[in-house]
Amino acid sequence: MDTIGAAYAGLKFAKDSLQVALGYKIEIETRTQIPTALEKLGATQDSLFELREELFRLQSDNDRLRQDIAARDEWNAVKAQYRLSETAGGAVVYESSGPPKHYACPACFSRQAVQILQDRRVMSGGFDCPSCKTIYPVRISTGGGGRQSRTEW
Ligand SMILES: [Zn+2]
Repeated sequence: MDTIGAAYAGLKFAKDSLQVALGYKIEIETRTQIPTALEKLGATQDSLFELREELFRLQSDNDRLRQDIAARDEWNAVKAQYRLSETAGGAVVYESSGPPKHYACPACFSRQAVQILQDRRVMSGGFDCPSCKTIYPVRISTGGGGRQSRTEW
């Protein structure tokens, strides 16, 4: 960016100098060449200006892409702590590999968010997602006779 700025300033100086030269008494041939030189300098200045805009756009893109990569790396690190598994109740959810053991909502997981499923403490063995509210049959249903049986993970 500074290089372009310096080149731009250099061109401006050359243009200004030529314009000053036009004010002096100089040979006719030189006089007719100066406007052409000025025109070319002006066109070069325009190109530099466009180049600077393009560079700015590319730098913005680069910054955005770096942020995207950082976000992806972060998500990959989180994702690595889970594996898809089927629970005793038949729900297919993400299971944590480290303690405390927990399950994560697969719907929210696909949107790169970890939502820990919460035990609704109901006989059907359902756990729900605090975000999308989907209920998953994590534990084996103990419903029916009202008898409390041991639940299995
Ligand atoms: Zn969810």
